[in-house]
Amino acid sequence: MAAQEEQQPPLHILFFPFLAPGHLITIADMAALFAARGVRCTILTTPVNAAIIRSAVDRANDAFAGPAIDISVVPFPDVGLPPGVENGMALTSQGDRDKFAQAVQLLREPFEHFLAHNHPDAVVTGSYFHWSQHVRAVLQRDHVAQQPIGDCPRRPDALVSLPGLPHRVELRRSQMMDPVKQADHWAFFQSVNAADQRSFGEVFNSFHELEPDYVEHYHTTLGRRAWLVGPVALASQDIARRGTDALSPDSDNCLGWLNTKPAGSVVYVSFGTLIRFSPAELHQLARGLELSGINFMWVTGAAGPDPSEWMPEGFAELMARGDRGFIIRGWAPQLLILNHPAVGGFVTHCGWNSTLEAVSAGVPMVTWPRYADQFSNEKLIVEVLKVGVSIGAKEYASSVETHEVIGGEVIAESIGRLMSNNEEGSAIRKKAKDLGVNARTAVESGGSSYNDVGQLMDELTARRSSMKVGEM
Ligand code: UDP
Repeated sequence: MAAQEEQQPPLHILFFPFLAPGHLITIADMAALFAARGVRCTILTTPVNAAIIRSAVDRANDAFAGPAIDISVVPFPDVGLPPGVENGMALTSQGDRDKFAQAVQLLREPFEHFLAHNHPDAVVTGSYFHWSQHVRAVLQRDHVAQQPIGDCPRRPDALVSLPGLPHRVELRRSQMMDPVKQADHWAFFQSVNAADQRSFGEVFNSFHELEPDYVEHYHTTLGRRAWLVGPVALASQDIARRGTDALSPDSDNCLGWLNTKPAGSVVYVSFGTLIRFSPAELHQLARGLELSGINFMWVTGAAGPDPSEWMPEGFAELMARGDRGFIIRGWAPQLLILNHPAVGGFVTHCGWNSTLEAVSAGVPMVTWPRYADQFSNEKLIVEVLKVGVSIGAKEYASSVETHEVIGGEVIAESIGRLMSNNEEGSAIRKKAKDLGVNARTAVESGGSSYNDVGQLMDELTARRSSMKVGEM
């Protein structure tokens, strides 16, 4: 019997990430996590998306002796998008976004073709592929953000309690998705939630100690299967080039610059991969950074308005001096930066990956949510975990809609509060450090996330054996 078990081929998991950098990065890390435990992993994706995770996958394969992670590449459906435009980050118009949505539907065919010719033990699909019902990777906290809210008041500043959650979570009406104004998004998230509920279970990039009441709520109240296996970024074997095949040239010097700064003195400013700021917002952000008097490292992204459209007077001179601020145009090595001792705070849009990366690094946050799950993530960071200061954003608007402009004085004040050595700043910093320790412990051998990976593997192995018995 034991000899027979030894001959069993390793578990095989197919990962099918949604086509957005944040999702691809997380799935590549998740595959590294399972590969380290002896699982054979295949990631199915399109050529451009394969290129951005290739280096992370190669490094993981070098690091582990077990079965390799394969990337299986399928062509991006021909929907009339320009060559090379294959994920959410590259979309610049509504027309392109509509074509992209069409391509997401068309990927169902090659995905099902792969399944028909390979027989993985489990399929982990990105939650946003709402047409699939396998084990689903929940890489955001949309299930909290998109609670059914019933007849809630239409007044933008009305406070709405999200029903059925373990904590009292109140959002302003204006901070929530509007089922009328954002009807397409609303319908999309409803179908994502419905597919999540039909699935075998959900793998979360989170850990028990971060949100124990929500884990309990999920298992007991909702009766759903959930495995919390994160923070998955801690499994990354490629923390410098993770998520890109084209690191910004500015990133060459960024660690050298951080090395010249005292511990905890720099605030890192970055808003993920999809958010675009208007020139008016950039103008106020630059003013805020200057007014704060705090050292800053600011990732502006490669595209975006010309500096002449937003740079405040004197800002070019401040940057030329080089002692207060460092700008990275393009892709920054975020994990390296967040884990540098000089970094003492993070101005973030509360994307779930960025949130968990800050938590793992023990870095507190200034929260500046814009849409999707970001406002409820802010609540978790500021009110439940108490590891952040809110900038006070009030308006839910998608990545492309016009946003409220937050004044430079408000931005400077929020950064000052987070970075200060007063009672509030010190308490937040201590909580963030403690949470970072919990995050790292969770993924170590015997930790809660380590155990959840083992539990999922056990369930899949048992399922495989029971199927064999059934077949006999
Ligand atoms: N990221 C990075 N460098 C950049 C921009 C983003 O490494 O210059 C990574 C970041 O570390 C995170 C992901 O991209 O892992 C962004 O995911 P998140 O959920 O925070 O935001 P999204 O882009 O999905 O809104």
